[in-house]
Amino acid sequence: MSSIADNIGSVTRRIQKATLQAGREPGSVRLLAVSKTRPAEDLKAAFEAGQIAFGENYLQEALDKMQALSDIEGIEWHFIGPIQSNKTRQIAEAFAWVHSVDRLKIARRLSEQRPETLPPLNICLQVNINNEDSKSGCTLDELDELLEAIGELPNLRLRGLMAIPDPDQPEAELRLSFRKLASTLTKLRQDHPEAGPLDTLSMGMSDDLEMAIAEGATWVRVGTALFGARPAKHSQS
Ligand SMILES: *Cc1c(COP(=O)(O)O)cnc(C)c1O
Repeated sequence: MSSIADNIGSVTRRIQKATLQAGREPGSVRLLAVSKTRPAEDLKAAFEAGQIAFGENYLQEALDKMQALSDIEGIEWHFIGPIQSNKTRQIAEAFAWVHSVDRLKIARRLSEQRPETLPPLNICLQVNINNEDSKSGCTLDELDELLEAIGELPNLRLRGLMAIPDPDQPEAELRLSFRKLASTLTKLRQDHPEAGPLDTLSMGMSDDLEMAIAEGATWVRVGTALFGARPAKHSQS
């Protein structure tokens, strides 16, 4: 069995290789360690191996781990799960990034509830890129209006787009999904220069990070390849 430190090394090398092959600047793709369902000790091992950014899907689980790891300084916490509006305050208080904002109501609450003592909250808009009924995320059509409204919110910093394309679609279609997210961001950057830095594409996971990097990912969100297979089912919020 390989250790978490070994896995960080091999995923980092995969990212470096894919970045180079895509002709992109070294260091332009960051690794988000998706640590949902993992115990705090696993995050500690990853941090000690040099991993800074951790992505969590379930608020209470994340808060418990923050508590358990409170003596470690320098972890960057990212929220990547579906957001209920009664959870926004704790998210706004505890995280540096939220990748899964998909409606204005949530963005407004996060901005209102972001403590003034903290820098603006970095957010990505989650797009339901394959228009799956089962998936969260806004539609492509909603983005223009969302950007205009979010531009008015003082305590958010809109960084870009996030998607979780259906991993079971054929490879060529998966590639097109990544490409579509990237071209959408390019277009938004042109149409909404006031909206924020729009420098972020959060896409690609354990099995498809190379393809996502080739298509422009700046965050790849990797769980299984770092921590091993997750228990089959998990329901918590
Ligand atoms: C679980 C999860 C991942 C990581 O998936 P792996 O296939 O384990 O790498 C990435 N993004 C989101 C939003 C997730 O929920």
